[in-house]
Amino acid sequence: MIDAARPAPRRSRQARVVWGDRVVTVGGDAPVRVQSMTNTDTVEVIETAIQVKDLALAGSEMVRITVNTPEAAQAVPHIREQLDRMGIDVPLIGDFHYNGHRLLTEFPDMAQALSKYRINPGNVGKGDKRDRQFAMMVEAAAKYGKAVRIGVNWGSLDQELMASLMDENGRRAQPWDAKQVMYQALVQSALQSAAYAQDIGLDANQIIISCKVSGVQDLISVYRALARRCDYALHLGLTEAGMGTKGTVASATALSILLQEGIGDTIRVSLTPQPGEARTQEVVVAGEILQALGLRSFNPSVTACPGCGRTTSTTFQELAKQIDDHLRASMPVWKARYPGVETLKVAVMGCIVNGPGESKHADIGISLPGNGEAPAAPVFIDGEKAMTLRGEGIATEFQKIVEGYIER
Ligand code: SF4
Repeated sequence: MIDAARPAPRRSRQARVVWGDRVVTVGGDAPVRVQSMTNTDTVEVIETAIQVKDLALAGSEMVRITVNTPEAAQAVPHIREQLDRMGIDVPLIGDFHYNGHRLLTEFPDMAQALSKYRINPGNVGKGDKRDRQFAMMVEAAAKYGKAVRIGVNWGSLDQELMASLMDENGRRAQPWDAKQVMYQALVQSALQSAAYAQDIGLDANQIIISCKVSGVQDLISVYRALARRCDYALHLGLTEAGMGTKGTVASATALSILLQEGIGDTIRVSLTPQPGEARTQEVVVAGEILQALGLRSFNPSVTACPGCGRTTSTTFQELAKQIDDHLRASMPVWKARYPGVETLKVAVMGCIVNGPGESKHADIGISLPGNGEAPAAPVFIDGEKAMTLRGEGIATEFQKIVEGYIER
């Protein structure tokens, strides 16, 4: 017998991210959630609402916005109103640094319009003052029934805690590893803050923890330690992952290893958009990671071979792209109309070597003619050969067959 690939997931507490009578659950038996963050100036209400809408339609189930000034705080309820007017059902998360305690106290409409607060314990102040500032934010969350993410980041780690751990380690006789101290400081900062939040009166279920770093191995080490030491829901993300392929690969590698071990209740892929690249790309990548691991289904999957010397033309690559683009573009409408459409599997293959086999494993597949093969493209539906397409219009015909299959 061969063991199932994925161990049992870590069972975390379940947080409720609430707005009005709507809720997104995080942790517990909830699916791993995708989230993202805007890069607009929050003061720009319409621009921000449109970007939130785009991210939500791309698959983001929670969207974080910067709340850094009184003007940004005043804009938040208006952004919420715009989203409600557009029928966009996505919770807004407020990202606070330095002055969150003042903003959450002085702007109650903003505190209520948000569904979750992100608090960075590394920059809410120092010493006793820090405790009071942190407490003010947690008190607001408890008062309005909001979830809190205690989000530690190694770029803004509590320096006093780091120094005291270094001193402590320095007094030991055996050699110590600076990285281990950093891991310890990240985990300790998050867990101490969470314990303090509970002391203040926040329900443990409403606490989500993250400890973000930008190195793949560092992230894996830190989250394994966190998962062993607490049962809070965990938000995963490689911070400052970078641009393009590098950021995508690094995020996919780190997140996949942890998710495969059952660690992680919500994820963000932090990509720096390349010039001209849509902000929504990070949501697409996050969704693809979860889908590739078999944890969620967001879009029908299109299997395509890479092509090789047996491929006669680029037709099959174009067809694969055309089908993939078409399915993705149709999903917002299809999801409501055809429940379960996101689990559809389509294969577009370049020749008969693997074409018919792969097509039979899919719900619907096509094998285009390769080098030296007869100019015919067999189509398989539910594992059986259903028809053969020929001529110039293969792409359009196949697209219609896929649509007909979905409608049926
Ligand atoms: Fe090459 Fe055919 Fe394999 Fe595609 S299916 S990679 S065309 S051998």
